Amino acid sequence: MIDKRKFYINGAWINPIIKNDFEVINPSSEQPYAFISLGSKEDVDLAVNVAKKAFITWSQVDKKEKISLLENLLKIYKSRWDEITQTMSEEMGAPLDWSSSAQTSSGADHINDFILRLKNFEFEKRFNKNSNNYIVYEPIGVCGLITPWNWPINQITLKVIPALATGCTMILKPSEIAPISGIIFAEIIHEAGFPPGVFNLVNGDGDGVGTDLSSHQDIDMISFTGSTRAGKLISKNAAETIKRVCLELGGKGGNIVFADSHPEAVREGVRNIMSNSGQSCDAPTRMLVEKSIYKRAVEEAADEANKIKVDIASKNGNHIGPVISKTQYDKIIDLINSGINEGATLVAGGPEKPNGLEKGYFVKPTIFTDVTNNMRIAKEEIFGPVLSIIPFEDEDEAISIVNDTSYGLGNYVQTQDKEKSKRVARKFRSGGVYINGNSAEPGTPFGGYRQSGNGREGGDWGLEEYLEIKTICGWE
Ligand code: NAD
Repeated sequence: MIDKRKFYINGAWINPIIKNDFEVINPSSEQPYAFISLGSKEDVDLAVNVAKKAFITWSQVDKKEKISLLENLLKIYKSRWDEITQTMSEEMGAPLDWSSSAQTSSGADHINDFILRLKNFEFEKRFNKNSNNYIVYEPIGVCGLITPWNWPINQITLKVIPALATGCTMILKPSEIAPISGIIFAEIIHEAGFPPGVFNLVNGDGDGVGTDLSSHQDIDMISFTGSTRAGKLISKNAAETIKRVCLELGGKGGNIVFADSHPEAVREGVRNIMSNSGQSCDAPTRMLVEKSIYKRAVEEAADEANKIKVDIASKNGNHIGPVISKTQYDKIIDLINSGINEGATLVAGGPEKPNGLEKGYFVKPTIFTDVTNNMRIAKEEIFGPVLSIIPFEDEDEAISIVNDTSYGLGNYVQTQDKEKSKRVARKFRSGGVYINGNSAEPGTPFGGYRQSGNGREGGDWGLEEYLEIKTICGWE
C-alpha cells in the first residue's frame, strides 16, 4: 500500500492534526492500493493561515520570476511523466497509453499555455490614450481549489497554474477518490522552488475539507470543478463571506447529426462519448439523428459500440477502462435500467458486466435508441459509457431538443453545410460548440451556461478569474 497520509503545508509534508485514514481504491481491481488522510477544520485553518501570510510577498513577485518558476515546474512535470500517467491509470482507471496521451499531456499543455499567456498579459494599462485613469489587475488573494476525479491533472493545472501566475496563494483539495496525482503535483511544485505557503495541499472529502474551504472567512475565492449538486452546496456555503465562486459543473451535451453529415459522423460520435468510459463533463451523450438516416445511424452506432473493448486500466491498447467507483457504477446501472423500464430500445451493451470482467467497475458501452427527451437517460448526467439516440424531423426541432436541458456545457453538430453549422452553433445555449469533430485549441475559454457553471478556464480568461480589477483615478 502506498502511504500518502501527509499534507503539504508551508513548504513541508506534515501529519494531519487529527488522524483520519482513508483508503484509495483501484477501480480495475476494487482493491485498496493507497492511504491518504481526510483533513479537519484545524488542518484547513493552518493552511489558510500560511497562505494568507505568503500572499503578502507572493502577490508582489514580478512576472519574470514567476515565469522562471513555472518553466521549472513544466520541466519537472515532464521528467515525471510516466509516474503521473501510471498513477492516474491506477487511481481513476484510464488505460495506460490513453492516460499518457490524453490525461498527462493535458496537464503539460495547460502549464505551457499559461506560461505563454502570462508573458503577454498586461496587468496594468491606461484606461484610454488621453485618460488619467489607470486600470490595474491584482491577484484576488487566498484561493480554495476543489477538483474532481475524472480528469485529475487537467483540472488541477487549469486552477493551480493561473492562481500561481497571477500571484494568488492557495489550498488545493483534490478528489479524495483519485488524490495521488495531486500529491505528485505538490511534490513537483516543491521541487520547482515556489516559496513556502504559496501552494498548500489538504486532502479531504466534500462534507469536511470542501465545506471548510467554501465557508472560510479568510478565503477570497473558490474555484470548483465537479457535480452541479456540489456546486450548489458550495455556493450556499460561500454566500456568507461573499467570496468569488467559479464553478465548472456537469453537462448533458447534444450532438446533432444531419443527413448531410460526413459518413463517419455517427461512429465518431459514439467513440467520443465512450472515451474516458463516458466520464467527461462535455461528452456528447445525446445523439440527435435526422429521421431520413435514422435506421442506418442506429445500425452504425450499435456496431461501433460493440467494437469498443473494455479492459483493465494497467494495459496498453485501444480500449476503455472501468468507471471510477462503486457509487458511480451503481448510479450508471440504475440509469441503464431506467432507460429499459421507460421504454427506450437497447441496441448495444446493457446492465450486465462485460464478459470475463466480474471484478472491477466495468460497464459495457451501451446505446439506447428511440429515446425521448423526457426520459431520465436523456435528462440526467449519467457519467458512464451510455449514449441516447433521439430522432428529429428538422433543424428547429433538433436545436430545441438540445437546448431543452438544465445544462449548457458542450454541444456538437455534424453537417457538410457550412452555413447551417454556423446557424446551429449560434443557437446552442452552451459555452462550447464543436462542429464536425473539431476540437478546442489550447488557451480557448472552457466553461458552461446555466447549471453547467459560471466560470471560464484556460487562456487569458483563466487568468482573469483569479484577478481583481482596480481603477485608479488621477494617475498622471
Ligand atoms: P463531486 O461534485 O462529487 O466532487 C468533486 C469535488 O468536489 C471532489 O473534490 C469532492 O470531494 C468535492 N465536493 C463534493 N461535495 C462537496 C461539497 N459539498 N463542498 C465542497 N466540495 C465538495 O463530483 P465528481 O463526482 O468528483 O466529478 C464528476 C462531476 O464533475 C461531473 O458532474 C462532471 O460533469 C463534473 N465535471 C465538470 C467539468 C467542467 O469543467 N465543467 C470538468 C470535469 C468534471
